[in-house]
Amino acid sequence: MEIKNYIGGKWVTHSHLQSIAVTNPANGEQLATIPRSTSNEVDEAVAAAKQAQKSWALVPAPKRADYLYAIGLKMKEKKEYLATVLTKEMGKVIEEARGEVQEGIDMAYYMAGEGRRLFGETTPSELANKFAMSVRAPIGVVALITPWNFPVAIATWKSFPAIVAGNTFIWKPSNETPMMAYEMGKIFEEVGLPDGVANIVFGTGPTVGTALIEHPDVKVISFTGSTTTGSKVAELGGKHLKKISLEMGGKNAVIVMDDADLQLATEGILWSAFGTAGQRCTACSRVIVHKDVKEQLEKRLLDEMQKLTIGDGLEKDVKIGPVINKAALEKINHYVQIGKQEGATLLAGGKILNEPPYDKGFYYEPTLFTNVKPDMIIAQEEIFGPVVSIIEVASLEEAIEVNNGVKFGLSSSIFSQDVNTIFRAQRDLDTGIVYVNAGTTGAEIHLPFGGTKGTGNGHRDSGVAALDVYTEWKSIYVDY
Ligand code: GLU
Repeated sequence: MEIKNYIGGKWVTHSHLQSIAVTNPANGEQLATIPRSTSNEVDEAVAAAKQAQKSWALVPAPKRADYLYAIGLKMKEKKEYLATVLTKEMGKVIEEARGEVQEGIDMAYYMAGEGRRLFGETTPSELANKFAMSVRAPIGVVALITPWNFPVAIATWKSFPAIVAGNTFIWKPSNETPMMAYEMGKIFEEVGLPDGVANIVFGTGPTVGTALIEHPDVKVISFTGSTTTGSKVAELGGKHLKKISLEMGGKNAVIVMDDADLQLATEGILWSAFGTAGQRCTACSRVIVHKDVKEQLEKRLLDEMQKLTIGDGLEKDVKIGPVINKAALEKINHYVQIGKQEGATLLAGGKILNEPPYDKGFYYEPTLFTNVKPDMIIAQEEIFGPVVSIIEVASLEEAIEVNNGVKFGLSSSIFSQDVNTIFRAQRDLDTGIVYVNAGTTGAEIHLPFGGTKGTGNGHRDSGVAALDVYTEWKSIYVDY
């Protein structure tokens, strides 16, 4: 399958361009190719988006929202198909893929509702015979740079608020997961979204991403991905005075207090650590446990981990799919070697699976380290794989200090049955998202999604907060 760029409502063939192959991480099979676009294709897409934006901004917001309802309905109609494509190109197990598509559907309906609630404000003027108000105005052409771990959901977090607010966009999806972008492009086409409102350009970050950031007609860059790349986006974007929304790494922890329901905590940890093979920015990669329940918790985790079947996510009963590619596999394994050298105790896993039936794909054993010290590299850096470090503490205060002692601040969780402990923790945990008696993953679309410190730069995806990224406040004074 040859995937083409979607520019100005057309699937454009650029036969002179080189292509990039897309493979299934479960078995190495080639699924598709995408064009390795250059700044010329970016220029074409930006011109189309700029042209379309003038009339799109004049469509009343509730009418723009109607397209989102239609997109949500189409996604619902195609849900099973979309989930299957998602599993094939990204590797997450089919149940999770269904969940992700559903998240996109939820986002469509949620943001469609915002089309009727794009509220501004009126404020009493200091002066007589003067009316003062502010409205949310569209910004113009926006660029969306999205990662492979949530190829549909994250794209909907960005593109839906962008269009409901009257902007047009150019989407550069990850090279690992362009098929989902293609499917979304088809849906935009099927619901009759006006030409040029949605544009998709495939290619590499250094070429397409850079061209988008540097383009004078692109006003906003919304990026989700690694902290290393995000910092480069911020630097370049800052130079060109762009509005930059960044969503980057995490080093999320589950805190288990001595009064916790240990079965619930075990389930929460396993799901948030090993779901999507640990490749979520919200994944639990640290467990901060009270010393009095450490041994019991470890035993429960080890027992349950034995039941986790690894394999192709399309197969029945598989709970853990492959990681995205060979480089990811090697990076994860590298961190595991570091953990051993640092003196952490390996309780389970710790190996690449390369014997049949795993030899054609990229599989890593779910891995558990214990006796990890908070300042070890494995407890500080984002691994983005199925690796968890257990850290022992003696009090809530110490647990919070350890939780906050990393450079990221995306998600955190606390298991306790004491209301005072819970309320103190939610106040003191320095993360954008806090879970109580649940793991660190599973954010929904109606609340702001994002984090503090090295995770972001103060913006949020999802929820009403997303509209702050895609609108400009305009203040209007009327003398009468
Ligand atoms: N929606 C996902 C969750 O909360 C996180 C998205 C991400 O990892 O980028 O689990």
